[in-house]
Amino acid sequence: MAAEPRLHVIATGGTIAMRLDPVAGGQVPAVSGLDLLATVPGLARLSDATVEDFANIPSEHMRPEIWLNLAARVSQMAHQVQGIVILHGTDTMEETAFYLDVTVDTQTPVVLTGAQRAASDPDPDGPANIRDAATVALHPRARGRGVMIVMGGEIHAARSATKTDTSDTDAFDSTRPPDLGWVRAGRVRFVGAWLPRVRVPFPQTAPRVDIIPMYAGADDSALRAALERGAAGLVIEAVGAGNVSRELYNGIDQALRAGIPVVISSRVPRGGVRPVYAYAGGGVSLVEAGAVLAHDLNPPKARALLIAALGAGLAGADLAAMFEVW
Ligand code: ASP
Repeated sequence: MAAEPRLHVIATGGTIAMRLDPVAGGQVPAVSGLDLLATVPGLARLSDATVEDFANIPSEHMRPEIWLNLAARVSQMAHQVQGIVILHGTDTMEETAFYLDVTVDTQTPVVLTGAQRAASDPDPDGPANIRDAATVALHPRARGRGVMIVMGGEIHAARSATKTDTSDTDAFDSTRPPDLGWVRAGRVRFVGAWLPRVRVPFPQTAPRVDIIPMYAGADDSALRAALERGAAGLVIEAVGAGNVSRELYNGIDQALRAGIPVVISSRVPRGGVRPVYAYAGGGVSLVEAGAVLAHDLNPPKARALLIAALGAGLAGADLAAMFEVW
């Protein structure tokens, strides 16, 4: 008799593992990974699942040092099982997913899922999401495709997935439509194009990288504060196709002259960044000063990639090449 497909579930926390605490007046971490799996009807039939409590934190408490440890754990387990599911808070799920996508070198599908409604909700979405994530993680067509997010019956590639709703159970969209696919009643259908993956050598450290926002009237004070706190790299949440004010441009230029890599992303969700304007602060001037364009990556994902690349010791053209995938 053929062995059952083996699934490994890594619980890290998030709303999926929370319960309402009437004294505290809100949801708090409470439920173990094992107890969460027990709520998923049919999981035992689907797979011979093992589970570990890697952490039980809200995803706002997730940190790059934890990403590094998680990436090491996923790399280790990926050799031993057919699929991995990671339970994670939805608020920073896309950052963790993309960090794992660029650092973990495996053919084994890795699927992140979570919930918008807590385990103590009368109608929690966690159990169905876990079952769907397990179904995708064990699907033969998911092999070699990297890290995905499965929520609300939709499948998203880590590179494109972004949280677009603070409360709806359909929490994520793909910024490069269409979604990668869907899962309904145990059936998986991949419809979107698989994106090329970026692969960073496995990082040794998780250096500090800050995101600096651009807005009307922004100067370089946030950028300077980040450098004073020891930032090894900066991601600029620029406006439009990748443009900043003259004052922020001057700060970026000085940081680049001091050897700090600067990646330009945008607060606009679709369309990516590209060099269009040549005035001080326009994308052309930023590229000429030595900044790297994040293309389709939103600021948190550009930051995750920069942390991974700097942590792997990449610099100069090798580092810039990580952002040039198209
Ligand atoms: N604040 C929660 C978290 O990210 C939200 C969620 O899990 O959906 O941990």
